[in-house]
Amino acid sequence: MKWLGLWLIFSLPTAAANVILLDPGHGGEETGAIGKLDKSRRVYEKDLSLRLAGKIKHHLEKTHTVFLTRSVDRAVSLQERADIADKVKADLFVSVHFNSSTDIKAHGFETYYLDNNHDAAVRKVEKQENITLKGEDLVVNQILIDLTIQQTVQASRALALAVHGRLRSHLQPVGITNRGVKKGLFYVLALSKRPGLLLEAGFVSNMGELKTIQQEEFMERYALGVANGIRDYLKNKKGP
Ligand SMILES: [Zn+2]
Repeated sequence: MKWLGLWLIFSLPTAAANVILLDPGHGGEETGAIGKLDKSRRVYEKDLSLRLAGKIKHHLEKTHTVFLTRSVDRAVSLQERADIADKVKADLFVSVHFNSSTDIKAHGFETYYLDNNHDAAVRKVEKQENITLKGEDLVVNQILIDLTIQQTVQASRALALAVHGRLRSHLQPVGITNRGVKKGLFYVLALSKRPGLLLEAGFVSNMGELKTIQQEEFMERYALGVANGIRDYLKNKKGP
């Protein structure tokens, strides 16, 4: 038995220390934002987020253990997503979304991490992403949110800067606008209680941008940017 214990210790893969949970936003009857390519062709955020998360997983799983909160088109509540993070013992939680605005000219990509803010523009994005399956706002304990922010904000900010920095350079040839790294109060990040990000990869409400973000080149460049950014963050965290 003693030898078995030793064997187990020495056979543990080193990469096991870094488990990343990718969270494709929305799903099932909860479509997320809806874009229109023309009068009859609709594009759903839930489909784009699943496609992009799958590509990020493909790049990242070459070096790390990666899970998805959903791998098919199905409804998953925000609490269920957080519960999966506990189940797989995720070190990082990355939620993948696409943006939408009543201003059809709004465009660009932005990277969010969990923190308090008072920006009216950000609150609109929060409202979109905090909606639950029943379309109601989720009641989340404010004390728990504050505690989670306190415990994760430093790591989440460093992760956001690393990922966004890579996205900026990887997406340059595509010509999509950089809207920066922002603070947001997203319940899915608060509930997951670990360092994480919420990515808004581009606007489905902007017809020109919708065409760009659907393209394979954009998806590939974005996915590689996120994977490389996460690797940069984990490398720096470990030190020399
Ligand atoms: Zn979304």
